[in-house]
Amino acid sequence: MNGKTLMTCIDAAHASLKEHADEIASLDQAIGDGDHIINLLRGMDALAALRASIEAEAFAPALKLAAAKVLSTVGGSSGPLFFSMLTGMAKAAPDDDDVKAFARAFAAGVDAVGQRGKTGTGSKTMMDVLIPVAERFTALADAGASKQDVLEALPRVAEDNMLATRDMLATKGRASFLGERSRGHIDPGARSSQLMIAAVCAHLAQDGA
Ligand code: ADP
Ligand code: MG
Repeated sequence: MNGKTLMTCIDAAHASLKEHADEIASLDQAIGDGDHIINLLRGMDALAALRASIEAEAFAPALKLAAAKVLSTVGGSSGPLFFSMLTGMAKAAPDDDDVKAFARAFAAGVDAVGQRGKTGTGSKTMMDVLIPVAERFTALADAGASKQDVLEALPRVAEDNMLATRDMLATKGRASFLGERSRGHIDPGARSSQLMIAAVCAHLAQDGA
């Protein structure tokens, strides 16, 4: 993994968010203020504009560069949270392509989001996708799973847990202002996180990267 591969992952995530933009907008209109997809696409466009600099870096500095851009462009609640994800991953970023080391880096990123947002699972947020994915990633890596097995398993974990946010009561972020009325809608941050995870896994699986 290096800046070039990271950029191809960002491109894959960006394409998927664009494809599902209307749906994510509707989800945030239902239980938030509707800006989640606008915030994310603003960040993705800024990352695309930074392409040459990201591609020139090794993995950890490329993640840090992307994190700083995300913080300055995304805004909302999710900007600082995605910044924490990327910087948390950068701190633990592996030098080699070992599955266990990647699992550790991903889990470190998710931990950093949890610390920043002071949230675990069950609050109807992106954490309801990120935590189970990090846990399954770690468990698979510890069990010696291959890269292809991991890339196949994680999108399913992400999707199941994204769907499970529909029946949850929101207790964090803007959606929590709705109380019981937040039930019955999928959390927009859970959906965008799940889509990005699925897109990156599909890209890496097909790429053999
Ligand atoms: P805002 O709510 O400020 O408009 P966004 O619309 O960009 O920000 O992001 C909303 C998403 O952020 C939610 O759908 C939820 O997944 C996530 N979120 C909000 N608060 C938290 C938190 N404390 N921890 C983790 N995720 C959160
Ligand atoms: Mg919003």
